[in-house]
Parts: sequence; structure tokens; C-alpha cells
Amino acid sequence: MDDRLNNRIRQELSLTDDILLVCHMRPDGDAIGSLIGLGLALETAGKTVRMVSVDGIASNFKFLAGYKKIKQTIGENFNLVIAIDCSDIQRTGLEKEIGDKPIINIDHHITNDHYGLINYVDSKAAATAEIIAENLPHWGLALDIDIASALLTGIITDTIGFRTSNVTSRTLHLAADLMSFGIDISEIYMHALINRSIEAVRYWGAGLNKLHQIDSLVWTSLTLEDQKKTGYSGKDDADLINILSSIEGINISIIFIEQPGGGVKVSWRAQPGYDVSQLAMEFGGGGHPAAAGAMFDKQLEEVQEIVIRETRKILINNKHS
Ligand code: AMP
Ligand code: MN
Ligand code: MN
Repeated sequence: MDDRLNNRIRQELSLTDDILLVCHMRPDGDAIGSLIGLGLALETAGKTVRMVSVDGIASNFKFLAGYKKIKQTIGENFNLVIAIDCSDIQRTGLEKEIGDKPIINIDHHITNDHYGLINYVDSKAAATAEIIAENLPHWGLALDIDIASALLTGIITDTIGFRTSNVTSRTLHLAADLMSFGIDISEIYMHALINRSIEAVRYWGAGLNKLHQIDSLVWTSLTLEDQKKTGYSGKDDADLINILSSIEGINISIIFIEQPGGGVKVSWRAQPGYDVSQLAMEFGGGGHPAAAGAMFDKQLEEVQEIVIRETRKILINNKHS
């Protein structure tokens, strides 16, 4: 907790009534949970809030109260922007629209470039929702069951059910406090983490069929053809990366996802002791030491060749250190 930052945020909020709240493109549970959680809390405090996710919201988060308030485009009147779970302003997909409006940047990515007027960046937090849950009262905002449920969804999804290495006793204490609003935690697990469409599981199958391994590195690709074959309509990996990173003896896993508009999305996961965030950042992306991503404007084969070569260097360097 940072008292100086909290006072600045509280003061900035008191100066404005019209707020644009934005999360990152292709939003995950932390982005959506934080957006709804903070958005509802600001509304309760009497603010006019526009909650924006340029890519909308996946159906597995539509159990959250208030999800219908999420818009894909910005409104006209806003005096303050709060960007959530975004390591750089481009991640909002609204860089031009935001222009030079003041920004409060709330995030937990180590690769955050501090693009805001106020930057509450805590890379020790397991989720942006954890930062929000911890600090809402210090920003003069109150919690209720809907807000707590959205924030707990953010924490549970970003930690894959409290099992990533950045989970601390603070994470669990905050989760317990959120639960005490009367939340059914198993409902959150089922909706946000466990339930999968049959298409998503077939899509996993397509990726698993092509699994490659060199030493402690595994990777696979998901092509537009795989999407067509299986009927999966997302632009993501349907969290297949979590299966890859659970393979025993594997230190780094990578998935290459061909994108409908051209280009390839790359997702990395690493075991403790390995850092994939810096490499992702060198390629214009970002993330955490253990989970990072980047977008490439090249063909699949070329991206695979470059990324595998550079990722192997991390494994080799770590071996010698
Ligand atoms: P993903 O592999 O998409 O699940 O992302 C893993 C982590 O890296 C998340 O914390 C993302 O926010 C971050 N990330 C993914 N893609 C990008 C990107 N293009 N730029 C910055 N951060 C990213
Ligand atoms: Mn996120
Ligand atoms: Mn996050």
C-alpha cells in the first residue's frame, strides 16, 4: 500500500465527475474484473463512469453483475482516464482517443512504462484486482457484493486459482475479505476458470497434436485453419498455455496464435527462476517474469523461428548462471 499515491488518487477523483475507465485489448479476467469492480465502486460514489473494453467481454465473464455496462467505444465527455491492467497506453487500443487527458495508471506488470499522470504500479501484486481490492477504501470508495465478486474473479483468474508464484498471504487475506461479502467462490471458479466450450477443448486438441519440445522448452501453434476446423471463434489460445506450462520438467512454454487480421500473437509461460517478460518487451509486448505476450506482424513460420531462437537463449543463460 502506498499512502502518498493513494492520497493523490483520492484527490484526483475528487476533482472530476466524468471518468473513462479502460482495460487492455483481448481482456482477461483481471482486466474485466478490475474494470467492473472499480467501475461500480466509482458509480456508487456518484461518478459518471464509462467502462470500456475495445474487444468487449468473453461469455465466461457474463455472470458478473454490471457486465452490460461495458462498452466497446468511448463516450464524448471525460476529464480523467483510469487505465487498468495495461503496461503501456497502446494496450488500451484507445491511444488516439485518450489524447492528452490525465491518466491514472493502475497495474501490476513489471514491464509497465509509467505512462500516467499518476502511476500505481505494484509488480508484487498477483493481479490488478488485488491492488484495487486493497486500496479502494483509501480512494474513498466502498465495496459491495457485486464489486467484491468482480475483483475476486480478477484475482482468481490471474493466479489460475491461487497457484501462480506471485500469490502471497496478502492475496489470500484480500480474497478472504472479498469472500466475506457473501460470495460463492466455486461459482467464480466454474464460470471464469473451469467451464470450457466443446469447441475450445477441440481447439486445445489441435494445438496439443502439434506439440514440439527441445530440452525444457515446449511450444505449439494454433492456426486460423485450427479455428475453422474446431469452430473456436476467439482470437486467443483458450488458455491452452496453462496445460503446456503444467508439463513436468518444462521450464518455458510458448504458443503461437495466428490472428484473423494477419500477424501472430505469442504467449510465454516460465517456471520460477526464468524471466520471459524482458524478451516479450524487446518484441514490443510485455508481461510478468512468469507470463508474457507480444504481437508480431509477420508470418507464423518466421515468428516461430525468431522467438524459439531467442527464448532458447534464456534457458541457456540461466543454465550457466
Ligand atoms: P497472455 O499470454 O496473453 O495471457 O499474456 C500474459 C501476460 O502478458 C499478461 O499479463 C498480459 O497482460 C501480458 N501481455 C500479453 N500480450 C501483451 C502485449 N502485446 N503487450 C504487453 N503485455 C502483454
Ligand atoms: Mn490482464
Ligand atoms: Mn493482470
